[in-house]
Amino acid sequence: MTSARQPEKRTPTAPEPRNPRASAEPARKPSTAPCAPEVPARRDGMGPSTAAVHAGEPRSKPANALATPIVQTATFTFADTQELRDHFEHRIDREEYGRYGNPTQRIAELKLAALDGAEDCLLFSSGMAAITTTLFAMLSRGAHIVVTDDSYRRTRQFLNQVLHRYGIEVSTVPAGDYEAIEDALRPTTRILLSESPTNPYNCVLDLERFVEIGRRHRVKTLIDATFATPYNQRPLEFGVDLVLHSATKYLGGHNDLLAGAVLGTRELVDGVRALQATTGAVVDPFAAYLLVRGLKTFALRIERQNANAQAIAEFLAAHPRVEVVHYPGLPSHPQHGVARRQMRGFGGVVSFEVKGDLATASRVVDACRLPRIAPSLGGVESLIEQPALMSFYELTTEERLQVGIKDNLIRYSVGIEDAADLIADLAAALEQA
Ligand code: PLP
Repeated sequence: MTSARQPEKRTPTAPEPRNPRASAEPARKPSTAPCAPEVPARRDGMGPSTAAVHAGEPRSKPANALATPIVQTATFTFADTQELRDHFEHRIDREEYGRYGNPTQRIAELKLAALDGAEDCLLFSSGMAAITTTLFAMLSRGAHIVVTDDSYRRTRQFLNQVLHRYGIEVSTVPAGDYEAIEDALRPTTRILLSESPTNPYNCVLDLERFVEIGRRHRVKTLIDATFATPYNQRPLEFGVDLVLHSATKYLGGHNDLLAGAVLGTRELVDGVRALQATTGAVVDPFAAYLLVRGLKTFALRIERQNANAQAIAEFLAAHPRVEVVHYPGLPSHPQHGVARRQMRGFGGVVSFEVKGDLATASRVVDACRLPRIAPSLGGVESLIEQPALMSFYELTTEERLQVGIKDNLIRYSVGIEDAADLIADLAAALEQA
């Protein structure tokens, strides 16, 4: 799309207004026409089940539909030039072009904002699009970012290989080592980034300590909370500046969509929105619809996945062929106390090390009959994988160990099946392997 009016240049921490084509004007709220929500995005006191079902949705929808309509359009028409002028001068609230927003997308965003207790939310085409756009929006040449070590491999790659090319420096510190975070800080540090719980070892960050360091040093704190979901943990309540999610996982919940989200204050999210309007990693209206649909059962799914994962973790912890289980719901987990303080449930991912090597772990994975072998996590179907192969295939055992990935590690994303069936299946697989 071409425009005579281009976005103004901005500093990385000074966000642009929401409508990047009217940067001299105050930020406008993204339009939700033709279905403006009546349930506010943030309603303190609304439980996660109620928010998942109702938040963000208008009470009356086109054609009196109950379900959220998919506004499957690339662009939005103007009746005449006066309407165009009214739009650019913020006298009316409406859509303009698909890259700047869509009503179906906005409903999904407001629902997620309610769930995470955020002022605003912005959706993307994938979790990686959310992470990369957010970091590009907040960092510029000469800036420095501190990141904790156990994290999704593509995030590591973006930080260590891509950002580097743009003159942005990255320090990686062990997850949970707060002294190392402090030591890594520089005058140019702009962001502290961590997952919590981390992928794949389920390390839980003490969010209060993390935020306290960020505030003391005037550095923004970002948490990728994909593993936890807003059902189990709401990092913004601890003072974290921005929360990131791969909505592909638990939020969508059915392994049928790709999406990502960033949530936080309107001001910070606006800064990211302005860059997204230019770089364009927007969510498709149909994926946004699937997300709204998937979120209806969000609380039920997560409660079940928490319970199933806890049962599987306890079973594995007592199994003679299992070396160690990494699950924050187990008292043996190093951050069990922190997890109990700041999480409602401990999540649906159980990582465990079998006694043996890469081949032993492969035999266990192959002998399982219920979970399917696939990347990703968080859906209703249980999935199983060896991070050493699924995410770090081309590395040698030694190279993998250098980045903390053990050959005998198995990551089990627990679905909503019956726990007894999943446990019986695992028990048989461990016997056979
Ligand atoms: N963050 C975490 C913790 C993840 O596990 C993943 C993907 O596995 C991502 C981000 C990336 O999300 P997506 O696959 O939606 O791009």
